[in-house]
Amino acid sequence: MNTTVESQLSIRNLSKVFKTGDGVRNISLDIAKGEMVTLLGPSGCGKTTVLRSIGGFLEPDHGDILIRGNSVLNLPPEKRPTAMVFQSYNLWPHMTVYENLAFGLKIRKYKKPDIEREVTAALELVQLSSAASKNPTQLSGGQQQRVALARALLLKPDVLLLDEPFSALDAKLRMEMREELRDIQTLTEMTMVFVTHDQEEALSISDRIVVMHGGQIEQLSTPQEIYDAPQSSFVASFIGRINVLKGVSDGQHITVGELRVPNPNVALPIGDCIVAVRPEDIYLSTQAGGLEGQIRQVMVLGHYAEISVNYKEETLKVFVPREQAATLHPGQSISLMFHKMNVFPAISVSEVAPR
Ligand code: ATP
Repeated sequence: MNTTVESQLSIRNLSKVFKTGDGVRNISLDIAKGEMVTLLGPSGCGKTTVLRSIGGFLEPDHGDILIRGNSVLNLPPEKRPTAMVFQSYNLWPHMTVYENLAFGLKIRKYKKPDIEREVTAALELVQLSSAASKNPTQLSGGQQQRVALARALLLKPDVLLLDEPFSALDAKLRMEMREELRDIQTLTEMTMVFVTHDQEEALSISDRIVVMHGGQIEQLSTPQEIYDAPQSSFVASFIGRINVLKGVSDGQHITVGELRVPNPNVALPIGDCIVAVRPEDIYLSTQAGGLEGQIRQVMVLGHYAEISVNYKEETLKVFVPREQAATLHPGQSISLMFHKMNVFPAISVSEVAPR
């Protein structure tokens, strides 16, 4: 998907560097019509800079942004075929919900019956028909964000931009809103770019995820690929839980402590490497043969348990079914083996995301 004809949104070699030297460098990205793409990364990695550049709130230093094949760089925000939903809702407190929604259409010179039809449909879509005559201040945070979403949707933008829209909501509501947004997105087939620093949110709602780090794209893949086949130790450690160990590669095999396993990465240079293993990919056994560790803690978390195992100077996390946890206890010697692991060239610690 590299041609503009196929892409709803095409970002080409976008750079925006602030006086401090922070910003984004050489971002290229193609998004298809109807796709939901999430920009994910730690604070300061440049997600908002990319989103604001698409919306026209920031002028890039280099590069181009095309929507349906046309450059939008010379258009001010209000003339771009985009709409933006912010974390802070940005509703007008002196207008009713209905008036908040109708305002943008009035500016666009829609006729009254058309405005009524569009606003009614948008309120139905976000399940807030009963709130039309209310004032935004009478609504909960989740309801206010639904109004903001409806207001953006009824402008029928070619690309809807969402900047951490749910981060002010509590955890339960955030999960409900994710589901609702995904339903609306599927129903309307709207192209969306969603910014979040919450990896669980990104994994759950995206068609594709752009993992950003230090102003650049670190990986662009489906949620499944990002989780199963991270292309760098940063992505591996930023997405999901993962154990990071030192290993040595001889090309054919990786040696980690007492374990010697086939090398799953043909591109890995010979020598020191990083071995990353998800907690669900470690197998615990009382039979010797793996890494020899000692159980430090057993925490039952519903249908599974999290086991902390001391191995040399590390504490490794292992997920096991609840039934197996009943047979394990702190102080017990245990052997660890890996079902699956990812290996990366040895790098500095700063390239591993904070855990
Ligand atoms: P967050 O999740 O904290 O919002 P982010 O990934 O969205 O982070 P950006 O807001 O895009 O990051 O910022 C990227 C970098 O550019 C940061 O180091 C930030 O401090 C810097 N930056 C952003 N806007 C400006 C500005 N107007 N002037 C100077 N530096 C800026």
